[in-house]
Amino acid sequence: MSIHAALSLFLEEYPKAISRSFAGDAVAEFIRKDVPETLSSVIGANPRYITHGSPGQGNWARAPWAAVYDRFVTDSAQDGYYVVYLVKEDFSGVYISLNQGITAAKRQYGAEAKSALKVRASDFLARLGSHASGLQLGPIDLASSGGSNLSAFYEAGAVCSKYYPNDGLPEDQTLSTDLLNFINLYFVLASREAQLFERADAEEDEINLGEEDLRTLREHKRIERNRKLAQKAKQALGYVCKACGFDFELKYGSIGREFIEAHHLTPLSELKGQRLLLDPKRDFTVLCANCHRMIHRSEFVNSVEEFRSHYVVKNDQ
Ligand SMILES: [Zn+2]
Ligand SMILES: [Zn+2]
Repeated sequence: MSIHAALSLFLEEYPKAISRSFAGDAVAEFIRKDVPETLSSVIGANPRYITHGSPGQGNWARAPWAAVYDRFVTDSAQDGYYVVYLVKEDFSGVYISLNQGITAAKRQYGAEAKSALKVRASDFLARLGSHASGLQLGPIDLASSGGSNLSAFYEAGAVCSKYYPNDGLPEDQTLSTDLLNFINLYFVLASREAQLFERADAEEDEINLGEEDLRTLREHKRIERNRKLAQKAKQALGYVCKACGFDFELKYGSIGREFIEAHHLTPLSELKGQRLLLDPKRDFTVLCANCHRMIHRSEFVNSVEEFRSHYVVKNDQ
């Protein structure tokens, strides 16, 4: 399936499908399976991105959508921000939009959610700067039939977007290029956001590094300090240091509860390429603060077993 075919499905087949029963419908299945596969194949193999298509849950949504999530930012449509195809409620066209998670905004801001989404969108736009030029900036028109509809919130949450009218859907080549442009914008925004939290001056272990090594080490730290990824690793691996067995709760009581640091095991040299592995169980380990510092100073930064047998166990004997 091409992106062109996927969007035609949204605009032509979907409005016919919604008069049929939802369960087991082929159109719904296409949207769940084929549409995200199509987006993934355009983006290329990159474990950083997850694609998802939704025809609704339990029943037809007013309009279908398909999204791309950056795992550094979010893994669901509920929170964070992501690239999403949004269909107008009257099926007259579809947007590709860098947009925001609605559920989390509603939970956090209640009746003020729409204005909060708009404020955040203009903050994102400021960070994107000239990268977003040529696109539609700010709110979009999804022909929302009611102020409490999901589409009314997506109208407010739009950071930047591009519109394709049903009667003038571009060729697949253009659609693919546009998707890659939006993925690039998404990447720029996620990187700029991460930079805000980076310390201005170099950390102790960064002082003697060259430009290239500094960049990979920062990338490594960014992965393990990423709240979502680190949280998953900790949940999967527990809260006891894999190198020395230190248990923060045992030592410090309640303030040490569920405290541990995630350490990413992908060799730093491979971070320079595309082989970024983000499986919470296999590609991470958990370490106490001391062992984490020390494994970074050791030659066994990618193997907690070797680090342990060379340094930790030996000194205990
Ligand atoms: Zn330890
Ligand atoms: Zn680490």
